[in-house]
Amino acid sequence: MEKDSTARQNVVIVVPCYNEEAVLRETHTRLTEVCRRIEQEHLCLSAHLLYVDDGSRDATWQMISEFASQDKASHGLRLSHNCGHQHALWAGLEWAAHHAEAAVSIDADLQDDVDVILQMVQRWQSGVDIVYGVRRDRPTDTFFKKHSAQMFYRLLRKLGGDVVYNHADFRLMSRRALAALMTYPERNTFLRGMVRTLGFAEDTVLYDRGERFAGESKYPLRKMLAFALDGITSFSVRPLSLIVWIGLLIILLAIAAVIYALVQHALGNTLPGWTSLLISIWFVGGAMLTSLGVIGIYVGKIYSEVKQRPRYIVWEEC
Ligand code: UDP
Ligand code: MG
Repeated sequence: MEKDSTARQNVVIVVPCYNEEAVLRETHTRLTEVCRRIEQEHLCLSAHLLYVDDGSRDATWQMISEFASQDKASHGLRLSHNCGHQHALWAGLEWAAHHAEAAVSIDADLQDDVDVILQMVQRWQSGVDIVYGVRRDRPTDTFFKKHSAQMFYRLLRKLGGDVVYNHADFRLMSRRALAALMTYPERNTFLRGMVRTLGFAEDTVLYDRGERFAGESKYPLRKMLAFALDGITSFSVRPLSLIVWIGLLIILLAIAAVIYALVQHALGNTLPGWTSLLISIWFVGGAMLTSLGVIGIYVGKIYSEVKQRPRYIVWEEC
């Protein structure tokens, strides 16, 4: 943080932004106010903002550069292309790991209550390393989003992935936690699951999640499903063992079917049976394809990990 040469401890608020021109000015105003209050309440702290432009195609980067030129506590990181929310966030956290004592990550769209950041800082000051922002309810989410998200959390937990219920990526991490996170080499980044495996002292703060202040969700259904699948397959190998059980079950069913067919044959009623034959062919075929698909997903993950490509590429910084 070259622009500020005080000896105070830095807190950086990391904001990933993808085509957020409609909301960014308001976000900046509110977060600047939060920074001011952090510094006012904790004289030993200084607060900074880091906007990570995830390859936006609108005026997002122009706005970020404008904030940075007007305000020495604002910084920007421009990624060379759209790397996705998780990687953009990682880029910001990596920057923060080098420049700050603590980082708070928050979405640009003001759905999360910015005032909660002050509570997070308070907890961190009292010795907690990771503070999760947890939403109380989802009154503003659509019926579909609310229920699909809940189903996802449940499924992930059942499959052995540990996530904090109703926590997205609104959280504070201390320098120690950030440094530990940075040692994770995996490219399939599912931050809320990864952070959970760090350990350290944790705490949660509750808040009400509002509606997006402006603009549209950058997570359409397609991206949401991909994210959910990614979360599960990055954190759990249970689907692989599940395949074995499904396979065994099918073998048992097949044995029963063979016995049934033999008995029917002995009784001389063999002509009908075309239906059951067809059904079982389809059934086994389907089960095999599903299993192969699941294995394919994991093989794909191994492939992308083996390549060890960079998570993001920085274009410019301000
Ligand atoms: N985002 C990003 N890259 C992407 C998609 C989203 O950096 O490819 C950012 C976006 O600007 C926002 C945050 O990730 O700050 C969460 O996105 P959004 O609010 O659209 O998701 P939702 O709340 O609808 O799930
Ligand atoms: Mg949002």
